[in-house]
Amino acid sequence: MAKTKSAWSKPASEALRATKKTSLAEFNTRATPGFSGDSNQAAELLTERGAVFAALQEKLYANGRSGGNRSVLLVLQGMDTSGKGGIVRHVIRAADPSGIDHTSFGVPTEEEKRHHYLWRINRALPAAGQIGVFDRSHYEDVLVVRVHNLVPPEVWGARYDEINGFERDLVDGGTTVIKVALVISHDEQRDRLAERLDRPDKYWKFNPGDIDERKLWPAYQEAYQAVFDRTSTDYAPWYLVPADHKWFSRLAVTELLIGALEAMELDWPPADFDVEAEKKRLAQS
Ligand code: AMP
Ligand code: MG
Repeated sequence: MAKTKSAWSKPASEALRATKKTSLAEFNTRATPGFSGDSNQAAELLTERGAVFAALQEKLYANGRSGGNRSVLLVLQGMDTSGKGGIVRHVIRAADPSGIDHTSFGVPTEEEKRHHYLWRINRALPAAGQIGVFDRSHYEDVLVVRVHNLVPPEVWGARYDEINGFERDLVDGGTTVIKVALVISHDEQRDRLAERLDRPDKYWKFNPGDIDERKLWPAYQEAYQAVFDRTSTDYAPWYLVPADHKWFSRLAVTELLIGALEAMELDWPPADFDVEAEKKRLAQS
């Protein structure tokens, strides 16, 4: 325990948080900021810290069941193959599924297109006591939408401030918002797409459109940079997680969740009945 703990020189939330200087172009996608351990140590820690995450999640759930208003929203963004699904399978799985509210956001449906872009987001927000997990999110409305000119620049341009206001309201309502960008290199994406084409058990993850998107890599980098520059706020900061090493990105997101839940300083809800009286009643039953 002592050995593994010291593998972090500073909290993941400090080591990974976007700053005014954050430059995606200069970002090292193979680095392990704040963490000095190797892949073996990370795997061991993922199990150990997954249990810590699960215990904290249960406390959040218990509070929600007892009238508390707190919840968590984990927003996962990243290029194709960056490992968003893997976070759900390998990090979130430590928690009790009853307390997890997972939503993937794809191309808007006909019904969704008839509404404001935040309509489907609002419908998927976590209730009190829940951890909402968004695999893609409202940020697609300033990423894919911007890159493909799906709406005019003045329309997507107004969305950054609107998103900030939306998240401000969320936080004021008791939701802790954790925004994670899984950042892989262009080369790593090629290797991961190649693997999807080499392995029959991975064909289902491959979409020929992913290669078209890959050709737009520089435009996506620019759109992501704008997201970090304009929507990383004090109340809902972005965390840039180097994701070429899955063992690091999974451990890092576990730590971000633990940090956020610990900061809530939740207690177990007190009994809303007379414990001694109930013990007596039980003994007599
Ligand atoms: P996947 O995450 O692999 O299931 O792919 C989902 C696809 O939906 C991605 O190509 C996204 O770019 C796309 N998508 C998500 N949100 C939007 C949106 N608001 N407008 C257009 N495309 C979107
Ligand atoms: Mg995909």
